[in-house]
Amino acid sequence: MTYPNTRLFINGTWCDGRNGTTINVTSPSTGENIGVVARATREDLARAACAAEAGFAEWRKVPAIDRAKVMRRAATLLRERAETIARLLTQEQGKPLAEARSEVLSASEIIEWFADEGLRIYGRVVPSRHHQVQQIVLKEPVGPVAAFTPWNFPVNQIVRKLSAALTTGCSFIVKAPEETPASPAALISAFADAGVPPGVLGLVFGDPAEVSSILISHAAVRKVTFTGSTAIGKQLAGLAGCHMKRATMELGGHAPVIVAADANVEEVARIISAAKFRNAGQVCVSPTRFLVHNSLRRKFEAAMVEYAENLKVGDGLDESTSLGPLANERRLAAMKDLVSNARDLGARIATGGHQIGDRGNFFAPTVLTDVPLAATIFNDEPFGPVAAVRGFDHLDDAISEANRLPYGLAGYAFTSCVKSVHKLSQSLNVGMLWINQAATPWPEMPFGGVRDSGYGSEGGSEALEPYLVTKAVSVKC
Ligand code: NAD
Repeated sequence: MTYPNTRLFINGTWCDGRNGTTINVTSPSTGENIGVVARATREDLARAACAAEAGFAEWRKVPAIDRAKVMRRAATLLRERAETIARLLTQEQGKPLAEARSEVLSASEIIEWFADEGLRIYGRVVPSRHHQVQQIVLKEPVGPVAAFTPWNFPVNQIVRKLSAALTTGCSFIVKAPEETPASPAALISAFADAGVPPGVLGLVFGDPAEVSSILISHAAVRKVTFTGSTAIGKQLAGLAGCHMKRATMELGGHAPVIVAADANVEEVARIISAAKFRNAGQVCVSPTRFLVHNSLRRKFEAAMVEYAENLKVGDGLDESTSLGPLANERRLAAMKDLVSNARDLGARIATGGHQIGDRGNFFAPTVLTDVPLAATIFNDEPFGPVAAVRGFDHLDDAISEANRLPYGLAGYAFTSCVKSVHKLSQSLNVGMLWINQAATPWPEMPFGGVRDSGYGSEGGSEALEPYLVTKAVSVKC
């Protein structure tokens, strides 16, 4: 199957980088080069920023209802092209085709939700102190947005940011991931074909640190949004702060899963194992620290091992594959280190724990049990198909462990006790808590973290606020 080379999209035109250099794209299934992506120069980036400034001046004047129509057309095009885009996504990122299709189709739904939500950006009238004065509060688009997105969900990591920007009247430049560039380009194409005017949308690739430093400091850019690791997020938030730019940071997590003594252990193991191994564990809200009541622990571990051993690991393009390769060699090396560190500290490898074959980035779905707290995997986000399980005796101890790390993105808990639900809801330091279910990140619900997992939301009505500025107008008649 063919895989296209990817170009930059600046001012409504697909183009190569000014000096013609490119970056190789590698298949995570075979390790072979499958194409190239254009690398933007400083001049290309400055051109993209200036185009976004001009695009913003026009797009902000388009009535919200007309912006929504363009967005809805883009969603329809994306749905029509879902199969083709899903195949690109699987080739460059590795995830099974079914997951890639679902990513593209859910992107359409996200776009439509944001298109509608943009119709409900209300200002307000504030009672004034004098009868001749009218006080009104206007909500206006913040301006051109610079977005930086990662490779784990090449389409969906862009679409929430892009949809929030377009629906509020902002223009948008995204530095999409160099490792997975073709599906982001297909997303941008759908918007361009739907009628987004030139300049309103830009797509660039290059050296990440160079691109972010140029775009964030460019006078035209008014807002920064990043999804990726906490370490890079802190750097970019600092840079945005230096230039007084607004920022939204969707960073790493290390999601605790608390399985209380009264949970239905077989059902929980099935639900949470499916969530754990989705996208080979390369998901920011992936369940990662399994804290299971000691009375259920052995049953839980056995059920999780059975689930893991029934997964079919292989090339995502094969319809029978249920677990694809890791997206890049860095993750493969990280999995090996996490497993050997845990084993050296006394953990038991209940299943998996090794690379599969010597071609591509395949790693066996792994369950580690009796994992000591000192093990790296219980402290650093694994971002891979490795589950780490520990037991607990009292719910309070599980809650303390859940809150021990500086992260605060997703959390999960399973219990049939109303009192425990209340306690967990009140005490877990996370931005998103799912009780008795896996993650359901619907666009209408807030999506974001607290503490080292970042700030700002990419879902719910909260998702539009960071793209709006407030203007207070007092009129004396
Ligand atoms: P990384 O931290 O180097 O990169 C993460 C992402 O940020 C990549 O897309 C990269 O291109 C981009 N990036 C890196 N430096 C940048 C810079 N100076 N300016 C702008 N963008 C920059 O690490 P990685 O090896 O790609 O991923 C490792 C870790 O990142 C994972 O373990 C995970 O914790 C985190 N991560 C999180 C998410 C998420 O959804 N929150 C997604 C991908 C990676």
